[in-house]
Amino acid sequence: MATLIEPCPFCDSGNLHIHHHLLSHSVSCQSCKSTGPHRRELEDALLEWNHTSRLLRRARVNEESHPVHGRLHELEDAVRNLASALRYDGITANGEMELEHS
Ligand SMILES: [Zn+2]
Repeated sequence: MATLIEPCPFCDSGNLHIHHHLLSHSVSCQSCKSTGPHRRELEDALLEWNHTSRLLRRARVNEESHPVHGRLHELEDAVRNLASALRYDGITANGEMELEHS
């Protein structure tokens, strides 16, 4: 049973690659080079990538259909979740998330 991979949370690209290391898997975007959390189980790496993708993309859609009002905190929550997911394995987010579109 295949697990679908959500598009990149940052650039919406579907051009994704799954990295296999000895004891970890991670999803990365070939377009913007974002990398998801490294997890021992492929399933976990996919689930966390998908979770992040859904959060960030949903926040963006909400922002478009309900201009900014009350939506900023959702985006902030999503970013915080992503940041902690990335930090979990000592991966440093580059901070270039382009949240300043307003
Ligand atoms: Zn991307």
